[in-house]
Amino acid sequence: MNWELIERKTGQSLDLTDAEAVWLLERTEPSDLERLYRLAREANSRLNGRFVSFVHNMNVNYTNICDYHCTFCEFKKSADSPKAYVLRFEDIKSRMEQAEGKLSEITFQGGLSREVKFQEVLNLLSQIRSHFPDVHVHAFSPEEIHYYAVEIGEPYVEVIRRAQEAGMNSMCGTAAEILDDEVRRKICSEKISSDGWCEIIETGHALGLSSTATILFGHLEQPEHVANHFRRIRDLQRKTGMITEFIPLLFMPDQTKLGQAVDRALDRIQYAFKMIAVSRLYFMNDIRNIQTSWVKLGWDNALESLAAGANDMSGTLYSENITREAGGRNGEYVPLAQFVSEIERIGKIPVERDTLYSFQKSRYPEHQPVSSERILQ
Ligand code: SF4
Repeated sequence: MNWELIERKTGQSLDLTDAEAVWLLERTEPSDLERLYRLAREANSRLNGRFVSFVHNMNVNYTNICDYHCTFCEFKKSADSPKAYVLRFEDIKSRMEQAEGKLSEITFQGGLSREVKFQEVLNLLSQIRSHFPDVHVHAFSPEEIHYYAVEIGEPYVEVIRRAQEAGMNSMCGTAAEILDDEVRRKICSEKISSDGWCEIIETGHALGLSSTATILFGHLEQPEHVANHFRRIRDLQRKTGMITEFIPLLFMPDQTKLGQAVDRALDRIQYAFKMIAVSRLYFMNDIRNIQTSWVKLGWDNALESLAAGANDMSGTLYSENITREAGGRNGEYVPLAQFVSEIERIGKIPVERDTLYSFQKSRYPEHQPVSSERILQ
């Protein structure tokens, strides 16, 4: 393996192999990393020009009660914890009404507990749908679909259909963690297998629901596990074409059990940049959008990671519980105007997108990017 080969392939938009992805992930020299970021930046520029998107959204974590014991999670609470909650529709409604301007999307997910039944969750979803008919509801990870399928004794397809009827518009590609069963057994042994995760996403796609795809990295995984994950996602995308974006999620070790077992000397921000860059190159021909997370990386690092191949700044995220519970230090909301002005400040063109990146269906020259003035009107 060598840089000449990688440069030739990425320059011609040829697919990288798993071994090439592993080789890139193993690079640590600053000069190598600069070279990697440059290639990823060029690939992104060919695909997305100077456009940087973001979505005006809100996370609705309908409950934090969860019976699972994923070692990376401090969001979950037991039912008898004084901090346990189950949201009522009135809570959700008032939060949504407090949002600045018009919300485009809510992400609707929760813990997995016998205390919270599928029908209750569907009722919440239906109420959201009828009160906020224009808001896109991005809902349920494959793990939730699996959990509710077991609860009601129905196949995945039926659970997804009922969720769709209640108002779900697309599926969350979360709970993927690492799609490699060796690592899954160590960090989330109660969760479905990699095959199960892919099967549920594919079932949702067959029913017309797009999804995202995520990876949780920065814990026990090795580059080979990451490459296995990438291959599963790329294979899935080649079958269905309904993955809208890839979202690398950096593990936040503070206050988690898994945090005691990870390499604390690792430069986590540098690793995050490398993950963004390698995923851009690996998915170059299949997934156009690579997201960076300001909640995980911090605002300034997230902006900087746009030079390593990312093209989406994630969401305004009016309420973000999961990362803060796990020791993340970043805030829970960035105003719309800040997205616009900061993206403009670094010489990029901000675009407020919807969940499905509809603006990419029109040709760029015809597209009207947002400007600070328009957004503040
Ligand atoms: S990651 Fe999800 S399933 Fe696992 S313990 Fe946390 S809330 Fe429960």
